[in-house]
Amino acid sequence: MPARIGLFGGTFDPPHVGHLVTAVNVRHALQLDVVVLMVANVPWQKESSRRITPAEDRFALVQAAVADVPGLAAGRTEIDLGGPSYTVDTLAILADENPGAELFTIVGFDAAAGFTTWERYNDVAARSSLVVVDRPGVSATLPEQFQWHHVEVPHLDVSSTDLRSRFSDGRPLDYLITEPVLAVIRERGLYVGAQ
Ligand code: ATP
Ligand code: MG
Repeated sequence: MPARIGLFGGTFDPPHVGHLVTAVNVRHALQLDVVVLMVANVPWQKESSRRITPAEDRFALVQAAVADVPGLAAGRTEIDLGGPSYTVDTLAILADENPGAELFTIVGFDAAAGFTTWERYNDVAARSSLVVVDRPGVSATLPEQFQWHHVEVPHLDVSSTDLRSRFSDGRPLDYLITEPVLAVIRERGLYVGAQ
C-alpha cells in the first residue's frame, strides 16, 4: 500500500493545541500514515510584518510538540532547502522521497482562503489533495475552482499571535500549549519580551 502523507505547513511560532488537534484529527479522518508539521523556513507572506523566531528554534518546538504523538512528525525539508518556503517545492521533494505516496495538503480556513496567493498554487492542487479545517473567527470563502476536502475538527480559538501576546503580558498559557513545548521555550529563552 502506498503511503498517505499529510503536509501541514506553518510558521509554528509557537506550535499550539490548535495545530495538534487539527493534525491528529485529520490523520484519523483520512487514515493518513503520517502528518508532517512542516516548519516554514522564511514564511515570505509574514516576513515584513513582524520578527519571526529563528527557524531552528521553531523546529525544536515542533519536535517537542510531536515527540509523544503517534503519526505526527516534525518536518525540516523547507529549512534544509533554505530561502523562502513554497509548498509546491516541498510536495515535489516529498513525492521524490516517497515514491507512489498520496499527498494531502492540510490548511486552516484562513490559509485556504488565501490559497491563490500561493506560489504555483495550481501545481499544489495537482500534486496533492487539498484538505481544509475550520478556524474559529474566520469567515472567508474558499477558492471554488478547487476541490476541498473538509474535515471536521474541534474548533479551538487559539493562535500563535495570541500566545505571543500572552507571553508578553503574562496571561496564562496553560492548556493552550503543551508542556514539552513550554520546556523548550524556557530552555532557549524564547518569547522574552515578545510582541
Ligand atoms: P499566527 O497567529 O502567527 O499566524 P497561527 O496560529 O495562525 O499563527 P500558523 O503557523 O500561521 O499558526 O498556521 C499554520 C497552519 O495551521 C495554517 O494552515 C493555519 O490555518 C492552521 N491553524 C493554526 N491555528 C489553528 C487552529 N486553532 N485551528 C485550526 N487550524 C489552525
Ligand atoms: Mg497564521
